[in-house]
Amino acid sequence: MSGSPYVSLQRTEAIDRRELLDLTSYDVSLDLAADETTFASHTTIRFRSRGGPTFVDLKPVSVRSITLNGERIDPDLLRGGRVPLETAAGDNELVVDAVMRFRNDGEGLHRSVDPADGRHYVYGMSFMDAAPSVFACFDQPDLKAPYRLAVRAPQDWVVVANAPGEQVEPGSWVFEETPPLSTYFVTVVAGPYHLIADEHDGIPLGLSARASLARELEADADELFTLTRQGFDEMHRLFGIRYPFGSYHQAFVPEFNAGAMENPGCVTFRDPLIFTSKVTRGARIVRATTVAHEMAHQWFGNLTTPTWWDDLWLNESFAEYIGTRVTADVTQYDDAWVHSSYMRRQWGLLADAGPATHPVAGNGAVDATAALQDFDGISYVKGSTLLKQLNGRLGDEVFFAGVVDHFETHRFGNATMHDLFASWEKAGAGDLSDVTDGWLRTRGVDTVTHDREAGVLRRTPPAVEPVERTHRFTLSVTPAVGTGRRVPITLDASTTPLEVDADDAVVIDVDEDSWLLARPDATTVSLLPSVMRSSRDPMERAAVWNNLRSAFEMGGATPEDVLAVAVVAIPDETSDEPLSFNGWASSPSKMLLMEWLVAKVAPLAGDPRAALGALHQACLARATTADPGSTVQLAAFQGAIASCDTAEEVSSWLAGDVPEGIHADLSLRWRLLVRLAALGGTDRTTLDRLLAEEPTATSRVDHARAVASLPDDEAKAWAWGRFTGVEDVPNYELQATGQGMWVPGQEHLTTPYVERFFADVPSTPSHRSGWVLADAACWFFPLTSQDPHTVRLAGRLAGDESLDLSLRRQLRVMADELERRLAVRAVPA
Ligand SMILES: [Zn+2]
Repeated sequence: MSGSPYVSLQRTEAIDRRELLDLTSYDVSLDLAADETTFASHTTIRFRSRGGPTFVDLKPVSVRSITLNGERIDPDLLRGGRVPLETAAGDNELVVDAVMRFRNDGEGLHRSVDPADGRHYVYGMSFMDAAPSVFACFDQPDLKAPYRLAVRAPQDWVVVANAPGEQVEPGSWVFEETPPLSTYFVTVVAGPYHLIADEHDGIPLGLSARASLARELEADADELFTLTRQGFDEMHRLFGIRYPFGSYHQAFVPEFNAGAMENPGCVTFRDPLIFTSKVTRGARIVRATTVAHEMAHQWFGNLTTPTWWDDLWLNESFAEYIGTRVTADVTQYDDAWVHSSYMRRQWGLLADAGPATHPVAGNGAVDATAALQDFDGISYVKGSTLLKQLNGRLGDEVFFAGVVDHFETHRFGNATMHDLFASWEKAGAGDLSDVTDGWLRTRGVDTVTHDREAGVLRRTPPAVEPVERTHRFTLSVTPAVGTGRRVPITLDASTTPLEVDADDAVVIDVDEDSWLLARPDATTVSLLPSVMRSSRDPMERAAVWNNLRSAFEMGGATPEDVLAVAVVAIPDETSDEPLSFNGWASSPSKMLLMEWLVAKVAPLAGDPRAALGALHQACLARATTADPGSTVQLAAFQGAIASCDTAEEVSSWLAGDVPEGIHADLSLRWRLLVRLAALGGTDRTTLDRLLAEEPTATSRVDHARAVASLPDDEAKAWAWGRFTGVEDVPNYELQATGQGMWVPGQEHLTTPYVERFFADVPSTPSHRSGWVLADAACWFFPLTSQDPHTVRLAGRLAGDESLDLSLRRQLRVMADELERRLAVRAVPA
């Protein structure tokens, strides 16, 4: 069935099917042992119907049989992933016996081979349209049912699923019945995984990862279990409702697209979160907040599930808010909010200011595919900020009384945003229509500008939705001499007076209480280096960076302005957040500060080499002065590698001549190799040999990035073959290849691929689907092409209505990103 697009469920169809059916139970039996490319899937669905026509969702390789109430249904009726059914009034039993395909794109049942030992691993990702490629189902969030799962697997595998289970005979696993679940939660994690068990407060806990990561999982188990215990204790305290899904297993699985997925009882995480090398504190906070985020979903999303995908933002906003809050309040990572400021805020702001902005709530989501497009910084970060604001306004007592009422009223059921706001009103929240109308149901972000001459702060609503919003936040005002002060602001009109001295630096929304694009004036921008010199407040320093980043994106600061702050801030930075370069962002809006400086700001400077050189010197200075072995030193050295401009220096580090305290582990060596490759200091043969010597999963990804970065025609052609599907590779390698392809300074090699990108993108849906489809168009987009013609090509293709919707949206976002870069280029420094 490859290449034939499936029909995505329409909201109206979901409503009709929900009115017709009440589900009783699922029995799903999977045989993973027969073959390496396909698996057998046998499903029995018991349900009550009012009687009448409907359809079951099914995306198989082939169908062996389908029976409804004992009567055979012709498998040839299957069209676009649907089998029509004529249901009887009363009890029905549907039995589907089918053969499904293992996938390698992180959806459905993903199967991968660990390059370290050749062993095979499987996990299920049923989220958003993928469940029918695992089992026959009525795939919509509000048709919940209990599941009984059975799995046959190779005898050396262990199998974990949503409920506790056991191996009843060699290779045969049976699981207890789950509480009612939506289809998108159903998962199985199977393979020769390494398992660690524990218990807390009556909840059986588990961890697992690939066997080749056993040592690292054991080393991290204490921290992971501690975070889990602290999370449960705090969430039990906040919600007053116990975790409702029995056991809690956290599986770290290969080639996972998102950070994690909250499957009840069996959360799946991307396995680079099991650290195989020394990492920064920031990387640990990412993991800690992800652990807490998925735990929060067990209540918000899993116990009470959105009726339709248009309310999934509420799941994510709530999990983002609770995940960060709980991590900051009860774990060792009490700086989680500062981390969020560096890691998340620009992602949300750029999405909300960009061409694909949408309301946090009530975007319509006519079908599931459309809803998936809205899983962006708006749904996570803006929504979380708004919930944090609401919590500040209501206080914990009313805020959680409403939330708990929501969970109790809709326990194991479904609900809407309207239901939640009704619970808040019942809890005494009063009229919240200003929150829903002003913030949740309207698009775009206000800009708050400091107009020093007029003596005001000015609020400019977004052109897409000029709505009245009240902002409450704090300014920091730093004089040239003497101590700074904080000024609380209520901005409930288009301007509010602000009297400051001519040489006061004003940082807007220094605690990031509101949702706004800060636009400091030119005087403040020029004074930010001295603010950085005097401020030791981590949140203020983070806010300085966000003021500056927002100003830069809107044309209010030049690359030189930004670099002037960087060279002052980096050499005495005491947090590793602004220094770390933990990996390459999956999209330009997700760049961490150092990646943004190195990959975006420096190439746009009047003298890009000098700009990169200045960043390099600043990072290297910090790597030399920081405590040897500290994470600040590691982060600064990561920045030094990324900004290094000579193959000789990278080669000498590879040879072992690194600052004292830096340990050149496998991950750091590959980081050096990637940089060396981009600088032309190594070749394909060497890279292949080094991978063969230590073929781990992460090395394989770094190898792809390094090869694609090599400055030669053969390497670029190799990378392109992966984009066009000539060579089919798993998602992580595809990402690394695309990102390695476009290296600033290699335009003589990459220019031919600018036109080819726009020629080849439209046919990618023939060999790619789901998340990876639009992501690949982002990774392979010619962002280094500083040419208005490229923006025009992207704009033209984005307007092509015959093109896949998610691709069109991605093209608009990338064209906007490139256009902003060109605008920076056009302003003389
Ligand atoms: Zn989430």
